[in-house]
Amino acid sequence: MSTKKMLRNEAPLLEVKNLETAFDIEGTDYNAVDNVSFKVKPRQIVGIVGESGCGKSVMSLSIMKLLPKGIGKVKSGEIIFDGINLEKMSESQINKIRGKDVSMIFQEPMTSLNPVFTIGYQLQEVLFNHMKISKQEARQKAIALLKSVGISRPEKLVDEYPHQLSGGMRQRVMIAIAIACQPKLLIADEPTTALDVTVQAQILELLKEIQAVNDMSVILITHDLGVVAEMCDEVIVMYAGKIVERADVDTLFHNPKHPYTTLLLGAIPKMDEQEERLSSIKGIVPSLTNMPKVGCRFAHRCPKAMPECFTVTPVLGDVEQDHEVACLLYETSKPREGVK
Ligand code: SF4
Repeated sequence: MSTKKMLRNEAPLLEVKNLETAFDIEGTDYNAVDNVSFKVKPRQIVGIVGESGCGKSVMSLSIMKLLPKGIGKVKSGEIIFDGINLEKMSESQINKIRGKDVSMIFQEPMTSLNPVFTIGYQLQEVLFNHMKISKQEARQKAIALLKSVGISRPEKLVDEYPHQLSGGMRQRVMIAIAIACQPKLLIADEPTTALDVTVQAQILELLKEIQAVNDMSVILITHDLGVVAEMCDEVIVMYAGKIVERADVDTLFHNPKHPYTTLLLGAIPKMDEQEERLSSIKGIVPSLTNMPKVGCRFAHRCPKAMPECFTVTPVLGDVEQDHEVACLLYETSKPREGVK
């Protein structure tokens, strides 16, 4: 059986159902993630793509329960991880899962690593939080983890500080910390954006290897469809807080349906092209306080917009098996009465 078919038949490791995450701006709630549902299967790599401000990172912070306190909150919906509803868990219960079963790596490792502690200390801290382990064992494990992420002199590096390392090395250290407890799910938020192209490729290769060796699921958040093509099984395209298209990676690249996806694909630079391509899509993502209340949120930038796009809100519907789109060009996106 193909990997795709095997994944299709498996129960999801993560299921996000009708998630709404809001930010309080001057006393009013604005939804940064608006009625989003998706699943991640065991061992699957799911890419979440879209420009800045599309809600990708807010969604991952919602899953990790790391929204800024007093400002961001999950208003409704469910986040079911490995059969457990994370929304119903206390802070201390979540702390047991975070870093152990689900972990995360961010774009800029310098802001995630503590500059005053050695690399070894920071790795061992994660191990002590989740495992009963002696100091000696933790140090040995820290060295082994650094080795597993391709660091060539781990015995020395374990006693060094973050500022002594290059950007690529720091990201390797972050990956070592994230996989220290062999999580079932790794959320990688723009893990290579701050790195130069050669190091980017090495880090992506490393992530792929680690995913395969550890049988992890990965959510890869990126604005770069080139990275998605390299890494992912399935792709979710987000725009202005909503999912606008979801499909397996081959379908999305060869048969994109949503005009936003088509424009994102058109913005990927191609090696064999002489002329300069559009480096970005004209216009900007509407801000949270300026979100259209009805109609398609992409309408003011969409080259295919029709008059109804400004008055009718498209819904996510299956245009074919396992390929969902929210665009009024397709009958399946026209809202039926009583369906949100
Ligand atoms: Fe464009 Fe209309 Fe489709 Fe929105 S619903 S993406 S505006 S064609």
